[in-house]
Amino acid sequence: MANQEDQFKKVISHAKEYGYVFQSSEIYDGLSAVYDYAQNGAELKKNIREYWWKAMVQMNDNIVGIDTAIFMHPTVWKASGHVDAFNDPLIDNKDSKKRYRADVLVEDYTAKIEAKIDKEVAKAAKRFGDSFDKDQFLATNQRVVDYQEKINTILKRLGKSLENEDLVDVRNLIDELDIVCPISGSKNWTDVKQFNLMFGTKLGASADSAMDLYLRPETAQGIFVNFLNVQKTGRMKIPFGIAQVGKAFRNEIVARQFIFRQREFEQMEMQFFIQPGTQQEWYEKWKENRMKWHLSLGLGQENYRFHDHEKLAHYADAAADIEFKFPFGFKELEGIHSRTNFDLSQHEKFSGKKLQYFDNDLKESYVPYVVETSIGLDRMFLAVFSNSLEEEELENGTTRTVLKLPAVLAPTKAAVFPLVKKDGLPELAHEIINELKWEFNVFYDEKDAVGKRYRRQDANGTPFCITVDHQSLEDKTVTIRHRDTMEQERVAISDLKTMINKAVAMKEWLMKI
Ligand code: ATP
Repeated sequence: MANQEDQFKKVISHAKEYGYVFQSSEIYDGLSAVYDYAQNGAELKKNIREYWWKAMVQMNDNIVGIDTAIFMHPTVWKASGHVDAFNDPLIDNKDSKKRYRADVLVEDYTAKIEAKIDKEVAKAAKRFGDSFDKDQFLATNQRVVDYQEKINTILKRLGKSLENEDLVDVRNLIDELDIVCPISGSKNWTDVKQFNLMFGTKLGASADSAMDLYLRPETAQGIFVNFLNVQKTGRMKIPFGIAQVGKAFRNEIVARQFIFRQREFEQMEMQFFIQPGTQQEWYEKWKENRMKWHLSLGLGQENYRFHDHEKLAHYADAAADIEFKFPFGFKELEGIHSRTNFDLSQHEKFSGKKLQYFDNDLKESYVPYVVETSIGLDRMFLAVFSNSLEEEELENGTTRTVLKLPAVLAPTKAAVFPLVKKDGLPELAHEIINELKWEFNVFYDEKDAVGKRYRRQDANGTPFCITVDHQSLEDKTVTIRHRDTMEQERVAISDLKTMINKAVAMKEWLMKI
């Protein structure tokens, strides 16, 4: 655990030191759970956004993208159920005065049991060596089976009591499991209460006529209320999807995990409109599609897993998370939800407008069903960033810090160095930059020894370093160094563009999906 915490601390300090993420309003001691993306962070975030957008919108001729307002008519949130049901169960510890999400306390408890399972697996893997079969071990080792059963029983009960809004039972569960406050160590808990996560604000200048508004807690509703507009103007035929990326706001109760859980964050959502009755098939398809998108980035298959929801949201008939192994364990990165026709039917009811589709094949009108994919851009950022940060032991006994970002997402694709600051080398380096900058973000650095400049770019995540030396003046070749292998090769300046492109172009990566 301590190791995990250390690793997470390293991630946070590296993000700051290398201009990826700053705390919001830092000079005023910051604002809790709000963050700013710095010069490199903004580029990484933009690249993730673009990679998602291209995979969803550009590569699918039946998916279009929109960009709707953050403010929406307040009735939207009544119709969607957010006014009544967008709550988290909170609980306070009377001794530390700290507030927690009751469900998270229980989930953290089960995560500890899971850590025990991992330990057993690691021990057995060591013992059995090459002949170790993890699946068989998980299924047959009695201790592990008991642990897993305990986890399942707890989560099932939690899911059930949350679904039935039985907050007394959630509290009982916390008591029965002897869960203590991590700060005070005491079990002196209050009752569990519901807390609405939406931020309220007002529209209009005068107090009397002002209208109560909410900052949207999800981008999906902007898609639902525009469903017919898009369908008609885009002449879309079911099945089709509408995608959007945008800010969402939630007054999170507990927000202590850096950019994982923020009060202002960005979502990348896609609502896929389908014939009623086909939801199971599309739900499976989108689970598979989205997992392929993740795996194409090469962060390691072992770092992902599906988690099927026990507790379904008020709108869903099936739901799963894609969980990622963050520095603090497996947590939700993306949700895939079969939302039935709940949202569109509710908007029909509340607006009095028909939101139906005439299906030419079936010769009938219906309210479409929806399968949604919803991923947090900031969480994806954290997944990519934390997974890429490595402290690497080198053969000569030293270590290097390297940010092995997928090259397609790296903020800067290449850094160009003149070996020395004279003899026309800086001029040639600038010439190279002037050529490459039409295609990629490139960076010039002439300070310090080349080895030091390499290290800075390693820590920054730059996939290529190009060094211009005296030979370059004669034969128009340079040394290109690869971030991950540290290998160097001599290449013609005229080949640089093609070579870098092969490694970083979105097309090359999208083709892997
Ligand atoms: P959690 O259980 O972690 O609170 P959720 O189930 O409420 O998440 P959804 O409503 O399904 O999340 O939202 C879809 C996605 O939006 C999540 O998978 C996550 O990536 C992202 N997301 C949700 N809340 C936050 C937040 N506070 N900060 C950053 N990203 C978030």
